[in-house]
Amino acid sequence: MLGSMVILAACGGSDSDPGTPTALVNSTNGMSPYECRANGMCLNPVFSLIPNSPLPIDTQFSQSTYPWIDQSKNEIVLSAIPYVSGTVYAKDIDPAGFNLTETEFSGPSTFGTPNIAYRHFKGNGLPNFPMGQFPVQAGTPAYSYYNALPGGSDTYPTADLIPVAAYNLESYIPRIPVENPKDGDGNVIPGPISSLITGISLTGTVWHIEMANSSTSWYNPSSALPMDQCWGHPYNKQYHIHGYSWKCFPNQGSSGPSPLFGYALDGYGIYGPRGENGEMVTNSQLDQCHGHTAPVMWDGKMTNIYHYHLNREYPYSIGCFHGVVDYARALPNSDMSEGANYAEIIALVQSATDVPPPPDVAQKIADLTPSENSTFSEYVSKIITFVLR
Ligand SMILES: [Zn+2]
Ligand SMILES: [Zn+2]
Repeated sequence: MLGSMVILAACGGSDSDPGTPTALVNSTNGMSPYECRANGMCLNPVFSLIPNSPLPIDTQFSQSTYPWIDQSKNEIVLSAIPYVSGTVYAKDIDPAGFNLTETEFSGPSTFGTPNIAYRHFKGNGLPNFPMGQFPVQAGTPAYSYYNALPGGSDTYPTADLIPVAAYNLESYIPRIPVENPKDGDGNVIPGPISSLITGISLTGTVWHIEMANSSTSWYNPSSALPMDQCWGHPYNKQYHIHGYSWKCFPNQGSSGPSPLFGYALDGYGIYGPRGENGEMVTNSQLDQCHGHTAPVMWDGKMTNIYHYHLNREYPYSIGCFHGVVDYARALPNSDMSEGANYAEIIALVQSATDVPPPPDVAQKIADLTPSENSTFSEYVSKIITFVLR
């Protein structure tokens, strides 16, 4: 289950012009995907409890050695990337073309709240900007990199063979986001990511977690394979984007704060790279979830509210969730949950309070250093807190 979920799944000197960075800051070699921290991202540690998990609790990010990585600076050099070539539009794949709709909807949450206002998104998952040609054609610059990666199924044993197809994009995102609970110091507890999809983009497609694997190691996806010119590629035939996709978003202007580009699953807005003063936002201005609280245009008026930014520094998009995510609502069908029922995974965490983990996992947990162990139990208890509220 997890294996199929996760397979496929910036300033190089031009900070003054946020629209044209020359390099992206890569993920940190050796960092844990289970630790919510600045410049990182954190997954739900329950993934480590799944038998034969590809993500054991001691998983570390590796550093790609592909030619577009500047090893000494640990940066992705944009001019060196062998992008997936081709120009394919939504209408070339689905006669409906780009067709994302957003409507208002009211209904119960799965946490028992009877009447929540939602943004209801519906579409075919295809973007309003051009995609590269998938399957990746033999003889093109990106081919060998895709051919070397697992495709995640018998039909597509290698990633180069995966085409793009329309799918049932549907999501209910809370119109009024709810912050996660606070810790003893009054800080909002970051919510680890439990899903492949992290947000809905107004361009008609979705953001995925900033993590990808080869058969043996885990990487920042932007360092582990070339994407198309708009930073997208298919997973299981579903086109999706990673953080640097903002360069292809329409109507973002070239000065002043960036506009809203979409919504994270918790309901908070995702904005482009220019912050409130019009300069590119750096990670030092953002928290571990890659967001902050500042005035932005929100539902038609300037509002001081938490929001995420896309920028050139890993994780580029979302590192964790600042707000409560109702996975059963946000990812309500099998296309959106991409082979894993996240609501069930969350339920598994609840049951973990009564059911001991399998012996090999229990041993791994017992072998953790005191600091790793407290981090791990903290995360599990925090997730349980989210589920029960
Ligand atoms: Zn991806
Ligand atoms: Zn901001």
